[in-house]
Amino acid sequence: MKIIVATRNAGKVRELEAMLGQLGYTVESLLDHPDAPETDETGVTFEENAELKSREAARYFGVPVLSDDSGLEVDALDGAPGVYSARFAGEAKSDAANNALLLEKLAGVEGEARSARFVCVLSLAKPTGETLTVRGTLEGRINEEPRGSNGFGYDPLFDIPFLGRTAGELNKDEKAAISHRGNALRLLGDQLRPFLEEN
Ligand code: IMP
Repeated sequence: MKIIVATRNAGKVRELEAMLGQLGYTVESLLDHPDAPETDETGVTFEENAELKSREAARYFGVPVLSDDSGLEVDALDGAPGVYSARFAGEAKSDAANNALLLEKLAGVEGEARSARFVCVLSLAKPTGETLTVRGTLEGRINEEPRGSNGFGYDPLFDIPFLGRTAGELNKDEKAAISHRGNALRLLGDQLRPFLEEN
């Protein structure tokens, strides 16, 4: 069974492809549909942005669509970069620039005060506008320097204390087993197939 994921972020696509593949789905993303509209992410919460993206894409494709709005909340920065995680250091959406800015902003902040979490909101929408939206999180700490080259975004700086490794040091399966994205998908769980099939 095919599922369309409303994202152009190659890192998200790789992870969702692997996780949904294990559930028997073939994934298509907006990278396969360059003419699909780019949704303005005008919401102030992950839920609002996820639903804007899933609803617009479901209307465009005429079938149910899954979206992913995610990001990093750093406690010492009052929850920033939050919904602005992709463009923290500017519209170029550079992972390297975002990570460098994060380290700069946390200079002088030590130990447990560097606590943070990854948040992933997955939203399924039907062309009628009906949605099913869930939130998964992963608690961690911002490392003093990047470690590991797996994953994407802030992964090399995101230390997972109970593993003693950063998300950038995990392979795809290890990350999926504990990640905010994996946790959100596990929450969708049994509701995914009926939602897609009812259409
Ligand atoms: P969105 O495309 O507006 O949802 O922004 C997502 C941004 O959050 C990404 O560009 C990354 O900067 C960050 N992010 C989300 N999920 C992850 C992850 O699993 N690892 C690292 N960074 C992530």
